[in-house]
Amino acid sequence: MEKIWDAAVVGGGIAGYTAALTLKNLGVEALWLGEPFAGKLRLAETVKNFPSFSGSGEEFYAALSRQKEDMGLKNEPLRVNGIYAQGDMFSLAAGEKLFLARAVVLATGVEEGSTLKGEKEFLGRGVSYCAVCDGALYRGKKIAAVLSSLRYAEEAEYLARFASEVLVFCGEKGSFRAENISVHTEKPLAIRGEKRVEALVTERGELPVSGVFLLKDALPPEALCGGLGTEGAHVVTRRDGSTNLRGLFAAGDIAGRPYQFAKAAGEGLVAAYAVRDYLRTLSK
Ligand SMILES: Cc1cc2nc3c(=O)[nH]c(=O)nc-3n(C[C@H](O)[C@H](O)[C@H](O)COP(=O)(O)OP(=O)(O)OC[C@H]3O[C@@H](n4cnc5c(N)ncnc54)[C@H](O)[C@@H]3O)c2cc1C
Repeated sequence: MEKIWDAAVVGGGIAGYTAALTLKNLGVEALWLGEPFAGKLRLAETVKNFPSFSGSGEEFYAALSRQKEDMGLKNEPLRVNGIYAQGDMFSLAAGEKLFLARAVVLATGVEEGSTLKGEKEFLGRGVSYCAVCDGALYRGKKIAAVLSSLRYAEEAEYLARFASEVLVFCGEKGSFRAENISVHTEKPLAIRGEKRVEALVTERGELPVSGVFLLKDALPPEALCGGLGTEGAHVVTRRDGSTNLRGLFAAGDIAGRPYQFAKAAGEGLVAAYAVRDYLRTLSK
């Protein structure tokens, strides 16, 4: 039998961290998924508006990493590709692993301005966010992989095991260990097709492809979890972080503006208490 966690927290930023830490303090057995503090946290030049801390993003990262160690908080540094609600249970797909949890806190942040024209329209019809889930569907085909960073190089190489050719688009310079990968520097603008994806449109013209893999951190929330109520880039939440899906809570930037560390931490904490209360209703 697979282990059933009381809760899973998805996202390694400050919202996810605070939710995971609070759940631990409340005695809830929670699985924390996502690389710790890998997101925006380290990018801040100076953080001056977080209580009791003043310093660079790197120093903030170091302080949080120390506290995580001191608190003995464990983490699975995996990217979640899909969350599926099944009655009072959620299954979470992360790479080739599957986890089960009774409640979920979604704290995956937002990536502004990163949605390509046609991305949502062709989701499941040639657009995918997960190389491991869908790569084999493109055996022998020419596809494109748009990487938000070189952290996704391995996923592009995974795609090259199946596709005849992988056109990689990435803002960062790097090399790939597969002969059928070609690296393109122009900016992708849109995904075009009729019933399915037929081409990737870039600033230099149109490249015919059968599929486009968008390999990035923050997936649109409705792509991560079908049926989740959203408004623009945000999940619609109540004050306690609960959403339209029973047992699924959201916290941090993904739950709306202002995009600030203190707000994200506060919402992570509130969502953790709401999870604890929700779990009590299940055991009655
Ligand atoms: C340059 C810059 C400077 C900033 N400076 C400040 C400042 O000085 N003060 C301030 O208050 N705020 C500042 N902010 C805003 C602040 O960074 C955000 O409000 C805060 O990081 C939000 O935390 P979060 O946990 O909601 O999201 P994030 O920090 O974005 O963390 C989300 C995490 O989830 C991970 N993730 C995403 N999808 C998945 C998935 N499917 N599976 C697993 N993990 C996933 C991401 O990799 C990331 O680690 C700044 C932002 C930027 C970009």
